[in-house]
Amino acid sequence: MARPPQPYDLVIVGASFAGLVAAKTAAMRGLKVAVLDAKPDAGHRVSTTGILVKEAAEELDVPHNLTRRIYGVRLYAPNLKHVDLFTPGSFFLTTETGRLLHWLAQEAMRAGAHILWRTRFEGAERQAGVFVFSGVNISARHIMGADGAKSAVARHFGLGRNKRFLSAIEVEYEGLEKADPRFLHCFLDSELAPGYLAWAAAGPSVFHAGLAAGPGRRPHLQKFLRRTEAIFGFSGAKLTTRRAGRIPCGGLVKPWAIDGITLVGDAAGMVSPATGGGIRLAFQYGRRAAQLIADHLLHLSPPPEIALARELPRFGLKHAMRFALDLSPPNALISAAISTPPMRWLAQHVYFHRRGSEGLSFADFEARLPNTATIKPRL
Ligand SMILES: Cc1cc2nc3c(=O)[nH]c(=O)nc-3n(C[C@H](O)[C@H](O)[C@H](O)COP(=O)(O)OP(=O)(O)OC[C@H]3O[C@@H](n4cnc5c(N)ncnc54)[C@H](O)[C@@H]3O)c2cc1C
Repeated sequence: MARPPQPYDLVIVGASFAGLVAAKTAAMRGLKVAVLDAKPDAGHRVSTTGILVKEAAEELDVPHNLTRRIYGVRLYAPNLKHVDLFTPGSFFLTTETGRLLHWLAQEAMRAGAHILWRTRFEGAERQAGVFVFSGVNISARHIMGADGAKSAVARHFGLGRNKRFLSAIEVEYEGLEKADPRFLHCFLDSELAPGYLAWAAAGPSVFHAGLAAGPGRRPHLQKFLRRTEAIFGFSGAKLTTRRAGRIPCGGLVKPWAIDGITLVGDAAGMVSPATGGGIRLAFQYGRRAAQLIADHLLHLSPPPEIALARELPRFGLKHAMRFALDLSPPNALISAAISTPPMRWLAQHVYFHRRGSEGLSFADFEARLPNTATIKPRL
């Protein structure tokens, strides 16, 4: 006789930023939690640059030794003229992303969640008030779809799907001697990265270089590497990793939840349409959705689709910025505008939420830092 399915309160599909943070939270609140992921382990084939904005690092304390703190942004025009932007108190963290995901998985397991690797979501049917899964002998009272931009959970249950994407390509190098690791280098160029930008940044152990293009456009990686050879010296370094991926940029999908099923992270379109950053929102709403699901299942609080709806971002300004980016201004115009006050104001707003540098130059700021070890080259 077939064994009855192993019963869980919450089954989360996707063991990445949103799913693992949600698993830890739900398990700590007393739910019996399982996480399914098609990958063999947490750090397998990382599909992101993994840069955390300051707000992500405030949302979740991550181990210091898996990160590198970057204080400034060097913003380049197509003619490679640049401006340096920074704000005391603000920073980005580049990460050892595979190890960070391993750590998040350990945290979830320590809280009591079970993670089933190499387990692809193949569907689930509602039977007598619970979801019974196909292909794996488990059941759940609630399902969370944290399975990324092309969510199988959304498709299976007929929830909203992402329709607009940025196309991104990225490479990682070892031994990039020439690159200045103090900055997140960002390149505006409507020919190389139409509708978005190119970036380069030192991680704790490798150097990332990548670019993305807006919906229906193509990023030109080889041209970008050639164009910036004099700045970074890519030809003398060892290329170790290459990845490509799609980043949702159309805002929240509709509906992102129905009775018993909640989407979070990229699956729900919780990604800034302007910057393509999704990790902070995956942390924030993965955790929040798990709290609300636990309170609903254990204490009969309102269902998550009602409670969370009041808190989700509308991305108003970010949608307007996406519209402007999609227009891809001519390169000559960007080069002429790069050091003008309105452009600086806008860039400062995008990277540092308008906070200024309080009259300090970057060199003065760097000299005053109590522990300069954090920004010394470590590559
Ligand atoms: C090239 C690139 C660079 C990026 N850089 C940054 C950055 O620097 N900073 C930033 O904030 N954002 C960045 N983003 C966006 C960011 O990576 C995503 O927003 C973030 O990863 C979303 O996390 P998530 O947990 O929602 O989903 P994902 O990280 O996409 O994880 C989804 C998980 O679901 C699993 N899965 C999928 N389908 C199934 C299935 N059927 N069954 C079981 N498991 C399944 C996958 O194996 C995966 O583990 C980047 C994206 C790309 C493509």
